[in-house]
Amino acid sequence: MSFLVCRQLQKTYDDGTEAVKGIDLACGEGEFAVLLGPSGCGKTTTLRMVAGLEKPTRGDIALGGRDITGLAPSARDVGFVFQFYALYPHLKVEENIGFPLASMGLAPREIADRVGEIVARLGLTGLVGRYPRQLAGGDQQRVALARAMVRRPQIWLMDEPLGTLDADLRLEMRELIRAQQLDAGITTIYVTHDQEEAMSLADRVVVMEGGEIRQNGPAAEVYDRPVDLFVAHFIGSPGMNFIDGEIADGRFVAPGLELVLDGQVRPGPITFGVRPEFVRAVADGPLRATVKLDEYLGASRNIHLEAECGRLVMRAEDERRFEVGTEVGLDFAPAHLLFFDPVSGARL
Ligand code: ATP
Repeated sequence: MSFLVCRQLQKTYDDGTEAVKGIDLACGEGEFAVLLGPSGCGKTTTLRMVAGLEKPTRGDIALGGRDITGLAPSARDVGFVFQFYALYPHLKVEENIGFPLASMGLAPREIADRVGEIVARLGLTGLVGRYPRQLAGGDQQRVALARAMVRRPQIWLMDEPLGTLDADLRLEMRELIRAQQLDAGITTIYVTHDQEEAMSLADRVVVMEGGEIRQNGPAAEVYDRPVDLFVAHFIGSPGMNFIDGEIADGRFVAPGLELVLDGQVRPGPITFGVRPEFVRAVADGPLRATVKLDEYLGASRNIHLEAECGRLVMRAEDERRFEVGTEVGLDFAPAHLLFFDPVSGARL
């Protein structure tokens, strides 16, 4: 049974902006769901409605079987975690972390137990007696995270909590958040516009665009079987390759490319999609392309290519070098070809 259920949730702001257009969203108990989408797609508005910080224009929200639509934020038992805010400079680490529990009026003994638990989990044991100014930047962030997550509400709502951090610290915090969430088993909704962050954290990725949910599913499903061109384009870095062409006589035909297909695809104009890791360089491949750039990334390389039907990127993981200006033959892994309706964008 779903733990959080948003039904036909809609929000139109006073100036007429329809930020969220009647979405249905369900989240299982203990699940980590990530709302992902470009700026302005309605992620924050959705989260704020669940938190009670924004009143829905229409629709309702249930948490743990209880209708919370009309409840004040304080009556909902939600924990709202946004970008880690500054620590209290005059409080020691353990007092900073225990502050939310003290504000709730918990007994000192229970506060000490709960603080001790999270301090151990986040590797802060040796630092509890220090003041914030005596901590390195990364440790300050871990203390802020501990303070944000020390409470055990029914649900954690996180709005781009890692937004301002540098890359290394983002990775560390990401791991800590997920480990802590798995351990506490608290249902979590996390907002980000970073698709890699979404894929790495989520049990379920909810891709939003223009106030609507485009796709809602496990990360691998959203990556391998995007429902439309928008999702296919938004997920993955570098993005999926697209080639516009036509299906005729069981073949995909585009300028300079004729590909015999294994399965049935409806005839007519079509957009062909393939991810960079499923493009292969083979001497007698059905597509000829010119190497424009060999981008070294350590474990792999992105080879940027230009063909008659457009530009493509291929991921290379072997030692083979691709000289700029040379011509290569390309083939595509048959099991990983996707086809989209070029007008509606829907995957066929
Ligand atoms: P971002 O990642 O940039 O925060 P988002 O996906 O979280 O974007 P929202 O902040 O939910 O998107 O905004 C959705 C739409 O609603 C945007 O067009 C935004 O400009 C608009 N909006 C947000 N808050 C208000 C408000 N208080 N009044 C009017 N319009 C608003």
